[in-house]
Amino acid sequence: MTQISPQPGIMEIDLYVGGQSAIAGRKDVLKLSSNENPLGPPPAAIEAITEAARAAHLYPPTDHAALRAAIADVHGLDAERVICGVGSDEVLQFICQAFTGPGDEIIHTEHGFSMYPILAHMAGATPVKVAERDRVVDIDAILAAVTDRTRVVMLTNPGNPTGTILPTEDLTRLADGLPGHVILVLDCAYIEYAGDHDGGEALVRARDNVIMTRTFSKLYGLGGLRIGFGYGPKALIDVMTRIRQPFNLSGVQLAAAEAALRDPDWAARCVALNADQRARLAGALRQLGIACDDSHTNFVLARFADEAEAGRAHQALLDAGIIVRRVTGYGFPEGLRITVGDEDQTGRVIAALTDWRKGE
Ligand code: PMP
Repeated sequence: MTQISPQPGIMEIDLYVGGQSAIAGRKDVLKLSSNENPLGPPPAAIEAITEAARAAHLYPPTDHAALRAAIADVHGLDAERVICGVGSDEVLQFICQAFTGPGDEIIHTEHGFSMYPILAHMAGATPVKVAERDRVVDIDAILAAVTDRTRVVMLTNPGNPTGTILPTEDLTRLADGLPGHVILVLDCAYIEYAGDHDGGEALVRARDNVIMTRTFSKLYGLGGLRIGFGYGPKALIDVMTRIRQPFNLSGVQLAAAEAALRDPDWAARCVALNADQRARLAGALRQLGIACDDSHTNFVLARFADEAEAGRAHQALLDAGIIVRRVTGYGFPEGLRITVGDEDQTGRVIAALTDWRKGE
């Protein structure tokens, strides 16, 4: 028997369940399970990656100054309030580690991103799950769950896997209702797909306890490179920077992210394609009698009659070589989360589901 025991909380972590990426024996696989950009990385980012690889023998800059300046420039933010991480996952981890510990509580919502309870346990804190109402974050339920021990409230906006969004008025009401010692985290991984919603940027600027997190994994097509950033009050960013490993981002990551940001035409093209195909997919699902809310992201949550029906549809899609995400762990046993693809890919999904419906 080993005499080595893990830190408290670690064995309560449920392993992260990632999207399936292959189907045994098939080559024509279409992966629509992780909300990746169907157009891939912008060509300028690929060039920047090649160029940066030539300097792979050199340690990268530790202050991320060029990338932070580009983020500030493109998004109209203040570079001093930006921190970059290995995906927004790492930025969320900085928040949990820097501001919570044993005895502290981190509130997250019923259908929120599955990393939140994992990150809470990693910091030794206790995740507290709050119910949503009709697949939308419930502000009053969150406020009612706040205790003296609450340190952080994590919100996915727009939601994953719901695709729903809270308007700025609701975010403001939540921020107004929280005690000053509680940090409100607005996880905006999908905000670029949500029209002109600012993700809470103005709120971040106006308060000293609100942090927004963003990613290069979705719109910027760089999920494989792992780059994200946080935007928050200078005092909080300063604390987080102290626990950030100095070389957390490689030169390749930094260069790719900067190049992607500097190509607004590519980003605009990706947003437009997503809007078209998202509307097409949602319309087709509804015509087939499969429920879905209006999505403000690059995926659609398809809701079937029950878990068994979702299972059959999932299998039919796999048989057609299409991988989508079962979201039972997010509280939707009857759901399938389908990433919005390009025109051909969306056509393939619609054809496969139409065939499946005929055979039901
Ligand atoms: N937040 C949400 C809501 C997400 O869906 C994801 C990616 N699945 C992340 C954060 C993390 O993204 P990344 O670490 O790739 O930036």
